[in-house]
Amino acid sequence: MIIDQLNQIWTGILEFTARFVIPAWGELINLLPILLLIGVVGPILTILAIAWLRYAILKPRVTAGFVDPRRPAPIGDDGQPVFPVGEPYSLAEAMIYEPGATRSVSGDELLVSCPKCGLVRSAAVETCGNCGLSFSLTPPTRVLRPAAPPPGGRAAV
Ligand SMILES: [Zn+2]
Repeated sequence: MIIDQLNQIWTGILEFTARFVIPAWGELINLLPILLLIGVVGPILTILAIAWLRYAILKPRVTAGFVDPRRPAPIGDDGQPVFPVGEPYSLAEAMIYEPGATRSVSGDELLVSCPKCGLVRSAAVETCGNCGLSFSLTPPTRVLRPAAPPPGGRAAV
């Protein structure tokens, strides 16, 4: 009799705990994809993002040393080299240099024509002495910026 009662109690305990334990495991299994996502996909994405960032940051520095910063200037109808405005160039070499360059490979000062008024000046000078157009030539992107108004507009001053 006592063993039967104990068995009944034991069965009762099992049924009682099963109500809580089984749904809990079911929820855990439902959470598995999310846990996998956080535990596996998350770190992989993070590593990929870091690797991509490293690549993006290191790439320009690596290639800059090997790429020739010059390209030959096209020859116009009069047989003279034609230099585009806003890009540094060397008249002696008939070469167009990358934005941001101020000296040729032989050490000569580069020239640049103003994109606004066409005045030729030294590539080391940022602001045009004639029309006041200021543009900073920094590789790899060139930013054209008028001297006035300042960023945010005149009201911000
Ligand atoms: Zn100008």
